[in-house]
Amino acid sequence: MNKYETTSKTIIKYALDIEADKAVYINKAERENIYKCFECENEMSIVRGDKNQWHFRHKVESDCTGGKESALHKLWKQIIVENNEMKIPGGTLVYLNPKEEKKFEFDPRKPDVTALLPNGKYVYFEVIYTNAVEKDKREFYKKEGLHSLEIDLRGLLNGTNYSDEEWKHIILNEVWGKRKIYWDETEKEEVQLVSNQINFNEPIKEKELISPSTNNYIENEKVSNWQNRIFVIAITILIFVISFLLFKRHFKRY
Ligand SMILES: [Zn+2]
Repeated sequence: MNKYETTSKTIIKYALDIEADKAVYINKAERENIYKCFECENEMSIVRGDKNQWHFRHKVESDCTGGKESALHKLWKQIIVENNEMKIPGGTLVYLNPKEEKKFEFDPRKPDVTALLPNGKYVYFEVIYTNAVEKDKREFYKKEGLHSLEIDLRGLLNGTNYSDEEWKHIILNEVWGKRKIYWDETEKEEVQLVSNQINFNEPIKEKELISPSTNNYIENEKVSNWQNRIFVIAITILIFVISFLLFKRHFKRY
């Protein structure tokens, strides 16, 4: 018996797909792909038995715990990058063209995710997974006046081993751990439409939701204005015609 069999080993649920450069959940892993450990970078094999929980195992026996936090940090960024909207306290934030770890043009720092707001301004996401909260980075966002959000998921790291789908739900549909770092409340255009709805102290209300359909809503409003005008013109013409006919009939009698 070797020493590892007696220790309660961490069940490793995520590994790095080297080719795709993605954190992959064990249930989605494919045999033909190569997976590496987030911690020690050694190769992992897929273990899918009937008896055991499905997991990744180091090909060469090791007591490495698999780097769960790094794996999840990678996964969370992936989730933000692969989507275009997320619930935030008081509303839904719509963002476009998200990119992972893109360097600022004017600073060597890298936000976790950089995206665009519907008005063309940048929005930055920071997903927090360690205790080392970068205070310096936060100050930077505030000082530069950059729209930025912090998603602090540390409280969800212990205990449950969430699947990738569960994390996706938490990040996109829950407001858990989300806070603004800096948000310009005075700005006009679409950003105001979104940011005015953000009250980070209040729980979310369904009726306050702003979604990509907001633009459609504005379009619809324009359409219905036109419809109203046409209706008023039609009624006016109708009244005019009726009056004319009545008038004509009245004079025919004499
Ligand atoms: Zn490892």
